[in-house]
Amino acid sequence: MNYVRITADQCKGCRVCVQTCPNHCLAIGSDFNSLGYQSAVFIGEDRCAACGLCFYVCPEPGAITVFKDEQSQEKTGTGEDL
Ligand code: SF4
Ligand code: SF4
Repeated sequence: MNYVRITADQCKGCRVCVQTCPNHCLAIGSDFNSLGYQSAVFIGEDRCAACGLCFYVCPEPGAITVFKDEQSQEKTGTGEDL
């Protein structure tokens, strides 16, 4: 199953990932992180394509990690081949 992990304390709640995901897998949660922002949450367990768009548009390099299928190929950092 594809999966996106949001590291809440790295997220500034800008909503860019929410607006970018073509499968509507992300939303802004109700909880506040340590920076005082309402961070993004992953709600697309049944439909994430692991396309990596959310990762690429996020301005915070440590906020989003994309895992593809059961192989859990981690997509993080920059310059990775998604
Ligand atoms: S990897 Fe693609 S489909 Fe999955 S949450 Fe990110 S933008 Fe949406
Ligand atoms: S794009 Fe990044 S910083 Fe903005 S809401 Fe999404 S995870 Fe948070």
